[in-house]
Amino acid sequence: MRYEIFIDELECFGFHGVLEEEKRLGQKFIISSKLTVNSPEGVDEDDCDKTVNYAQVCDVIAAIAENEQYDLIETLADTIAKEILIRFSMVEKVSVHVDKPSAPIKRGVKNVGVEVERSWHVAYIGVGSNMGDSQGNINEAMKKLKESSFNREVVLSDLIKTKPYGGVEQDDFINGVCSMRTLLGPEELLRLLQQIEKELKRTREIHWGPRTIDLDILLFDNIVMEESDLTIPHPEMCKRDFVLKPLLELNPRLVNPLTHQYFADIFEELQGKDWYEKTV
Ligand code: ATP
Ligand code: CA
Ligand code: CA
Repeated sequence: MRYEIFIDELECFGFHGVLEEEKRLGQKFIISSKLTVNSPEGVDEDDCDKTVNYAQVCDVIAAIAENEQYDLIETLADTIAKEILIRFSMVEKVSVHVDKPSAPIKRGVKNVGVEVERSWHVAYIGVGSNMGDSQGNINEAMKKLKESSFNREVVLSDLIKTKPYGGVEQDDFINGVCSMRTLLGPEELLRLLQQIEKELKRTREIHWGPRTIDLDILLFDNIVMEESDLTIPHPEMCKRDFVLKPLLELNPRLVNPLTHQYFADIFEELQGKDWYEKTV
């Protein structure tokens, strides 16, 4: 059962702002939030455990608003939104509105406020390694993905050994796909993956060359996007046997948001072609 919980105009006293007086003297912040809750068992039994306890949500909001300090109310609102998603597992989506009615602005203004929205997303990540201890590198990358409080339900497919792609002379690859839920947006997730690659000593010397770890965003909800540094779905994924096979192992019913075809059908068609990279 899915429904919404509203918490309107919770008053907090905090020290957020850019100015020194704001940090020292503090002021009133009024915080409202809307939580989209998915209670798997529903509320027929009139049982507090089957929903989200809004008194506890208020405590979480107030603890952040009153004990932490941010220059921007945007950051304050976003921190609260993330914490609500992390702490209350039945909350799928949350919007947080922060008003700062006494903001130090010379012209008279009744209020300034911001609103941010965060939700859980489903992401599929392509994982590959062909340098050093490949299996160990992949395990380490998974550990780091799980350690981030912004991710949950991180699951890795079986790993498969593949011949290198792109004609560069190098060791065989180990590839797999990982699925997870994340509250990060696509660009934020890319930054996290690049950070993990860096920590695992990934260097970018030759395109398609040897690497300790490669983490690609394959799918992110049903998003279709093409930015200079991020294309989703991953532009090469439909040509890659070593991506589609583990992806389908995790979820055989996935649909390509770009073409609306089942990946299972795309994978089957690939088998009849001679140019794709086969698994060894
Ligand atoms: P390929 O993308 O063909 O698998 P690669 O993984 O070896 O090749 P990288 O050197 O790891 O390529 O990445 C090159 C750039 O690709 C990155 O800097 C990143 O900004 C960009 N990129 C675009 N779309 C994606 C995506 N969906 N996931 C990861 N990186 C992406
Ligand atoms: Ca890649
Ligand atoms: Ca990559």
